Amino acid sequence: MLADFSPFAIIATSLAGVKTIQKLDIENTEIWVPESLQELRGTRVYRESLKSHLANLWQYHRAFIFCLATGAVVRLIAPLLQNKSIDPAVVVVDESGKFSISLCSGHQGGGDNLARLIATQIPDCLPIIMGSANNLDLPGIDILGVPFGWNRGEGDWTGVSAVAACGGKIQVIQEVGSKLWQNHLPDSHPFDFDESNNSQGQIFITASSPLIPLPLSSSSLPSVYWHPKVLWVGIGCERGVSQKLISTAITEIFKQSSLSEAAIAGIATIDLKCDEVGLLEFCQHRNLLLLTYSAEVLQTVAVPNPSNAVESEVGTPSVAEAAALLAQKQDREEGHLIVPKQIFRLSGELGAVTVAVAQGKQEYIGSNGKILLVGMGPGSLLQMTPAARGAISVVDVVIGYGLYIDLITPILRPGQIIETLPISHERERANRAIELAEWGLNIAVVSSGDCGIYGMGGLVLEELKNRGWDGKVPEIQVFPGLTALQAAAARVGTPLMHDFCAISLSDLLTPWELIEKRLEAAALGDFVVALYNPRSQNRTQQLIIARDIFLKYRNRNTPVALVKSAYREDEQIILTTIEKLLPSSVNMLTTLLIGNQSTYMYENWMITPRGYSGFKNI
Ligand code: SAH
Repeated sequence: MLADFSPFAIIATSLAGVKTIQKLDIENTEIWVPESLQELRGTRVYRESLKSHLANLWQYHRAFIFCLATGAVVRLIAPLLQNKSIDPAVVVVDESGKFSISLCSGHQGGGDNLARLIATQIPDCLPIIMGSANNLDLPGIDILGVPFGWNRGEGDWTGVSAVAACGGKIQVIQEVGSKLWQNHLPDSHPFDFDESNNSQGQIFITASSPLIPLPLSSSSLPSVYWHPKVLWVGIGCERGVSQKLISTAITEIFKQSSLSEAAIAGIATIDLKCDEVGLLEFCQHRNLLLLTYSAEVLQTVAVPNPSNAVESEVGTPSVAEAAALLAQKQDREEGHLIVPKQIFRLSGELGAVTVAVAQGKQEYIGSNGKILLVGMGPGSLLQMTPAARGAISVVDVVIGYGLYIDLITPILRPGQIIETLPISHERERANRAIELAEWGLNIAVVSSGDCGIYGMGGLVLEELKNRGWDGKVPEIQVFPGLTALQAAAARVGTPLMHDFCAISLSDLLTPWELIEKRLEAAALGDFVVALYNPRSQNRTQQLIIARDIFLKYRNRNTPVALVKSAYREDEQIILTTIEKLLPSSVNMLTTLLIGNQSTYMYENWMITPRGYSGFKNI
């Protein structure tokens, strides 16, 4: 999903370059080209020099994709670069599409991910990512908290990253925020989660601000501060208070309590204040969420400092404390008040502001999550669609059955959260994905084959429906994959060719009578049939019954293929007939293909003819 990097600009200066870039999924983005390439579809011509054209585009785009010499790109962007926290991502693709180079703003600008995504969309393209974190299979120190919406605070970011790059130990002092990022680190990771004497750097993950301003800190270790957004600021105020008063009140109270304003998740107040100009200006200026509650709701909250005066004025004994407590609860797990209400005035400013701060258990991410339902194909990465590869490479979390995750390990990205659940826990897996997406993370739910054929796709949509989903948030995208019947067929010839159907013999979720009815109907209708889930340790009879049903309607010499683990290392293929079919050579990793009346074997190739001309009983 290149669209996730919007707005991005693409510049190509040669015909070959344009052709390469057109392989990307860039529906509505035109490629900037020089006048010499004017005639090409999907391109737009720049008429001034590329240098001045780029200068015009620079500040309006999050990312740039260049298809021209790396040296030329370096010279072009050099005068425009400012610093890595604000520069756009820059990726260079060579004309023939062999390399996708993350040139600049690889971490904070997302350039590394963009280069990875581009590489999945151009056949045989290799992403070139030079950052040392990537090579150590680690999440970058400066992007560790990005999926969770954490804010970067003060610190020596280069210093701490350098410690990781040199193999040194980094002590992690995590007081708040999700620990999911710790779950899938490589064995050789540099992080020390306990008290440590020999660490050479420190990461604080906290709602507090550094006790001593960092450059003056007595500790000689380089350290950095990440601030998960866990603090909800409750505000009560008199009519007409200024933005300045609100802002100064919060800054002062945070300073007194050693809290960091970067850890603010949002502001909460009474609904009477939803048009309070100073408050609205403050929230807009700081890009903070404003939650409002009615007096009826606020008065139900037990607070340490209720006030009769407030109650007689607005109908609830507490605004600031009650609103802060209600707001932090929106993540469902209950936090607590950490700064009881304080009334703040400023000489020269009209009125007073009351501030209270509550801390939530879970950080507020502040973005809408997505669930990508991804079919990974039968096993080999070569049989996976580039779109599915791209989807897996960009998400924050990958959820799937352990075996499938093992198969896709080479395309997982450092720092991704990987969650596996045992095979019989599909519904839990679906619910876990939904919870994480509702929180704000981007998830890929991976199924083998196609996710919509006996896969996780249906379960996720069903569970969403059960929760009253509005069809939009979390956003769902489906990435199809090669299903087992296609994979199995391709290994033995062209057995499907004509009308065919799939039947699962698993009666865990479907009554056996219905399965039997479908087997009868398929056999009667002379469909080529693919049997999924044919046999497990505890389900051995179903296949025998199925075989007997087919024997009633089809010639006993009808070809049958047993394809086990197609496109995986332990692939096994047995070609047999309905009569000679040995159930013991079938297991849960097998797909059975049963031919129709016209299917035949030729030199070990299973062939179903294209037309009906050979059909006997019409
Ligand atoms: N969503 C999957 C099907 C999952 S049901 C798909 O579209 O392929 C599980 C069944 O699929 C297995 O019992 C087996 O019958 C079949 N299957 C899955 N992967 C297979 C493979 N690589 N080779 C043969 N059969 C496979």
